[in-house]
Parts: sequence; C-alpha cells; structure tokens
Amino acid sequence: MSVNVGILGGTGAVGQRFIQLLDGHSDFELVAITASDDSAGKSYREAAKWRVDSPIPDWVGDIEVRETDPQAVPDDVDLLFSSLPSGVAEVVEPRFTEAGYVVSSNSSNSRMADDVPLVIPEVNGEHLDLLEVQQDERGWDGALVKNPNCSTITMVPTLAALDRFGLETVHVSTLQAVSGAGYDGVTSMEIIDNVIPHIGGEELKMETESRKLLGSFDGTEIDHHDVNVSASCNRVPTLDGHLENVWAETRKDIDTDDARGAFADAPTLDLPSAPDPLIEVFENPDRPQPRLDRTLGGGMQIAVGGLQNTPSGLQYNCLAHNTIRGAAGASLLNGELLVREGWV
Ligand code: NAP
Repeated sequence: MSVNVGILGGTGAVGQRFIQLLDGHSDFELVAITASDDSAGKSYREAAKWRVDSPIPDWVGDIEVRETDPQAVPDDVDLLFSSLPSGVAEVVEPRFTEAGYVVSSNSSNSRMADDVPLVIPEVNGEHLDLLEVQQDERGWDGALVKNPNCSTITMVPTLAALDRFGLETVHVSTLQAVSGAGYDGVTSMEIIDNVIPHIGGEELKMETESRKLLGSFDGTEIDHHDVNVSASCNRVPTLDGHLENVWAETRKDIDTDDARGAFADAPTLDLPSAPDPLIEVFENPDRPQPRLDRTLGGGMQIAVGGLQNTPSGLQYNCLAHNTIRGAAGASLLNGELLVREGWV
C-alpha cells in the first residue's frame, strides 16, 4: 500500500521531523511540501533551515516548495500533515478540508472544537468516528483531526492507564525543552542558566485537552472526563524531551505495583509508527532523563519512573520526545489510524 502525503508548513521545526519520519516510511510517500510565500518556488534544500540530527534526504532536497493553497497541491495527495503556526492553520486548514483533503494537524487551533477529534490512537482512537458528525455539520468532503499539545501527550497515556482505578485529581509540573517553543521561541540569553516558570496558554491546554482525550464518545459528541487537572509549566534549558512530575489521585486505593501493572497493560497498536510497549517503566529512580531517554522507541515511547506513594496520591515522572511523540510522530500516527479506519 502506498498513500501519497503532503506537509503544510513543511520547512519548520516540526515539518523537518515529519520529513525525517517519512523517509523510508512503509506506507506513505511524500509528494508535496508547502510553506509561506517566502519559501514557495524554492527547492526544499534552499527554503528550509535544516536543524534536525540527520541530513536532508537527497530525494527531499530537490522537491519544490509550494504555496499553502489547495490549488497548489496536486489532486493525487490523499493525506496532508499540518505543522503551520496556529493562526495560519485556523484560516488555511478549513480551505483544504472544504476542498476534500484529509488533514492530520499539530496546530493548536480547533483542538477543543466539539466536532474535531483530538486523538492519541492508543488512548481514544474511537473518537475518530466524530468525523462523521464533522462532515455532516460542516459539509466538508475532507476531514480535520488534531493531536494534542506536546506536554499533554506526554502525560495522558499514563493517565489513561490509571483510569481503571477511577482518576479523580491530577497535579503536574512540567520541565519542557526549548524546541517546544520553535527555533525563534526562546533566546539563548533567556534560557541559559535559567528556568522560565511560565509557558503562555500551556497550563490550560493540559487541563482541558486531557479531559477531552480521556472522555467518551457516544456516537454524536464527546463527553469530557471529569478529572481535575492542575498544571504548572516550566521551560528549562534542554533541547528536546519534556519531563513531567505527576501526582494522580484515584477513587480506588492503588500502590506502585498496581500502577506498574496498569502501565504494562497500556495498549500497543499494529500501526507502523506505534511503539511497543507504549509505556516503558524504569526502576532506577534517577530515570527517565531527557538526554538519555527521549529517543526510546524511535522517540514514540512514553518513559515513566520514580513511582512512589505519597499523601497526594501516586507520584511518578514521565518523559516523551516533544517534536516526535509530541508533534510530528503524533500526527503521523493519527494519519496511519485514518488510513486503517478507511478515512483516507
Ligand atoms: P515553525 O518552525 O515556525 O514552522 C512554521 C511553518 O509554517 C514553516 O514551514 C513556515 O514556512 C510555515 N508558515 C509560516 N507562516 C506561513 C504562512 N503565512 N503561510 C503558509 N505557511 C506558513 O513552527 P514549528 O515549531 O514547526 O510549529 C508548527 C506548529 O506545530 C505550530 O502550530 C506549533 O504550535 C505546533 N507544535 C509544535 C511543537 C514543537 O515541539 N515545536 C509541538 C507540538 C505542536 P516558512 O519556512 O516559509 O516560514
């Protein structure tokens, strides 16, 4: 099987991860890349400030970057990945879905819209069926699916595993890498020798997106989970990999062995980019660490450690690669699920 795919905003930090992950992909063939008007018409090699840790694949370097417009994308593209700035995506993505394209997007716009599935395949793949409601309501031939914010996606697979004990309250404090802010996001003068205890909008995203992801779909709408999530988000001077300290309180009493069992039972999917296991538990209390563990499972696994019982519930640390599992890899996995479920 070969599905022709394109990337909207393919020259940026997340776009470059898409290209790295699509190089040699078993089912997807990259045939179109779009970016801003400044880049359109240039070769990819010329347009992209390539910064990921492997060379630009030769076959990609010569691709001509296109305008981000449905007219500029070939008709034989079956699936589009989007890594546009959210303000741009808000305007542009509906133009593509109206034109009949299926879009798997990273951008934060529309994530909380009632008719837009927000999906982590191992957690709530069944929410994809909300696309029927979306197409009915919006009159689209295409479809729009979102993946959550990078800090949310690091934590939610662990919460989904613990929900068998009845999740009630979650507190989380994050240590987020600078790549999450994009190349121009945080200057070296701001972040070296420093921690910035604020990431605009991030705490609210963790609190609301988690409830939507853990919610149930009744055939017409998502009933959001009633778990209370309180987040405190910090930018730290690591390059890649978000580490998060979590305290989870559940209705049923659980101990660390119950949690280990739940994490071991987390589902693994038969999709090309799905890791196995989804959650890797470390027993050494000083792991996981961003530099050592962010590339586990090709950057798609969630690493967990530091399990302990505390008066505030089960405490643990979790880690994921923010531009792979938290961004490009997340959209890619959603794309694979869209194909498997017949939406592409
Ligand atoms: P970025 O490095 O700034 O890349 C943005 C991309 O969009 C580039 O290809 C850029 O093209 C293109 N673009 C900018 N303005 C445009 C316009 N007016 N029309 C068409 N294309 C335009 O951003 P990023 O860090 O890759 O993030 C992309 C999206 O993913 C954002 O919405 C971000 O919030 C989300 N996200 C990022 C992360 C992360 O860890 N970085 C994680 C999760 C989600 P040019 O090169 O031509 O300017």
